[in-house]
Amino acid sequence: MPNADSLEIAKFSRNAHYWWDLQNEFRQLHEINPLRLSWIERHVALAGKTALDVGCGGGILSESLALRGASVTGIDLSERALGVARLHLLESGRTVDYRLASAEDLARQMPGAFDVVTCMEMLEHVPDPASVVAACSALAKPGGHVIFSTFNRNPKSYLFAIVAAEYVVGLLPRGTHDYARFIKPSELSRWARNSGLEADELIGLGYNPLSKKYRLCGNVGVHYLMHATRTSS
Ligand code: SAH
Repeated sequence: MPNADSLEIAKFSRNAHYWWDLQNEFRQLHEINPLRLSWIERHVALAGKTALDVGCGGGILSESLALRGASVTGIDLSERALGVARLHLLESGRTVDYRLASAEDLARQMPGAFDVVTCMEMLEHVPDPASVVAACSALAKPGGHVIFSTFNRNPKSYLFAIVAAEYVVGLLPRGTHDYARFIKPSELSRWARNSGLEADELIGLGYNPLSKKYRLCGNVGVHYLMHATRTSS
């Protein structure tokens, strides 16, 4: 049994046709994409690197990694999301190798294969996120880069990421997130450390409801990214 929640996969499959619709369901992912891409590039020059995008969905991040010159593989367990991702390549002219696979399965097939592993907005949708973290680590080369993003778990994140985002401002469709699956940076750091990763930077993703803009910021209370390096052992 893969480490996956079939209801979550069904949710991402049901709305797969919206992946590249800038005004709909996945608008927030398009809006944060330039920020997360620039942050990744602060840690690693992507040109010529092998990159794996875990839980790639319709390929928003995968395509931008490819545009920066990385040789990109994208994996997801939603066939419909992957179908949309492959179709979009015809439009964009970019190259990404999309595969239906879990991180754990690919880690058994291709250990230590990638310079860069990204796993964005995905850990909070799986039953055993520590297992995905371990697989991401196993997939990275020694010295390779592993980048996660997810939501913190505390009263403030409940208020902002669930109540405000889903019910008041309507940034995200209702039911997008399950608060109980949000992850504290301390938990993510521990799973990373236990998997041979050294977590070396955290950064917050903030949203300003007045300007309706996201920005990278020092506050990791709600939504954050983590960069980690695969240790050589
Ligand atoms: N990483 C992308 C998409 C995030 S949405 C981005 O940030 O732009 C979360 C994605 O994770 C969905 O496409 C969903 O199908 C996928 N997903 C959920 N559980 C998964 C699992 N166990 N293995 C692989 N992909 C999974």
